[in-house]
Amino acid sequence: MKNKKILWICVAAAVLLLIAAAALFYANKFHIEIELNGEPEITLEYGSSYTDPGAGAYLRGVLFMKEGKELPVTAEDPVDPEKTGSYTVRYAARKWGWSGEAERTVRVVDTQPPVLQLAGSEKITLTAGAAFEDPGCSASDGYDGDLTSQITVTGEVDTKTAGTYTLTYEVKDSSGNAASLSRTVTVKAAASTGNTVLPKNRTIYLTFDDGPGPYTAKLLDVLAKYNVKATFFVTNKPDYNHLIARMAQEGHAVGIHTASHNYKEIYASEEAFFADQQIMQDIIIEQTGSPTRLMRFPGGSSNTVSNFNKGIMTRLTKAVTDRGMVYFDWNVSSGDAGEVNTTAEVVKNVKNGILSCRYANVLQHDIKKFSVNAVEEIIQWGLANGYTFAALDETSPTCHHGINN
Ligand SMILES: [Zn+2]
Repeated sequence: MKNKKILWICVAAAVLLLIAAAALFYANKFHIEIELNGEPEITLEYGSSYTDPGAGAYLRGVLFMKEGKELPVTAEDPVDPEKTGSYTVRYAARKWGWSGEAERTVRVVDTQPPVLQLAGSEKITLTAGAAFEDPGCSASDGYDGDLTSQITVTGEVDTKTAGTYTLTYEVKDSSGNAASLSRTVTVKAAASTGNTVLPKNRTIYLTFDDGPGPYTAKLLDVLAKYNVKATFFVTNKPDYNHLIARMAQEGHAVGIHTASHNYKEIYASEEAFFADQQIMQDIIIEQTGSPTRLMRFPGGSSNTVSNFNKGIMTRLTKAVTDRGMVYFDWNVSSGDAGEVNTTAEVVKNVKNGILSCRYANVLQHDIKKFSVNAVEEIIQWGLANGYTFAALDETSPTCHHGINN
């Protein structure tokens, strides 16, 4: 009996011990932890070698076996250091019913921009009118290889207009690394610019400013009737701009008189002047197919209406010449812009003016009907007296007045 009682106590104790052990085992929460060697995110320049730093795995509990028991780790490592991209390295460990997993991100990047190489010189100089072909540029990238076909070029060279032009070559590799390079092309004015050749015959250059306008077509009819060539210094008159094409077709010279003819605007700055001049040049190109190098300043180069901007005419007359433009003033004024307002007075002023010149650059305005009406009589008189009528060109006498501002 006594033995049996002891046995039962032993059994009960064993059961209790087992329960306690099970509870303790449960409370210890066994699990597998994976500890990465090195950083969890690694960035790598492509082409460099990569050795995964690996990881350690431990079976651990929270109450005991905190240090853990080291386990073997399997790693799946897809990193290709020759190929840019984001890779995930996966680690796993298993022991009995437990398993653990961890990841590392490895980014293979290309931070090196492509290298651009100009063909031909970085600075090219040519004479206005000469042909220009961009010698081009090549691009190579360590990662992407030849990127020449991806180069974009911005900027244009107007070989007809003197100036300095910049061509910019840009390229990006597949990782977005950009490179750019520039070339400057200087177009120098042709040697003939401003080299005046005096006419052999007594010559009349009829010039008409401020048009085209409502009387310009009629004027062109009169000029055509006598086969007389004249010069038009035009402004932007959208309703009449189509007549600029007719002027060129019929052999007249077309020059720029600015688009707006607004003194306050055009003489406010060199930038403003050239911006306005470009508008007119673009209209002339649109109408005639080619740019002009002839121009006349509103008010003439001697004007004082620009006095609000000190020295602007000194600067502009040099700047337009540097750009290969030839500017003209006049030596015979019809007076039609101011004091005169009849056809008869215009005829008289022009005849008197012409008589005192070897060659006459006659200023009229084809937006004035009474002035246009004087042209036929002036032509008849000129032809009858042995004058030659001609359109201005780059070698014609410029009749510069001199600068007053
Ligand atoms: Zn004018």
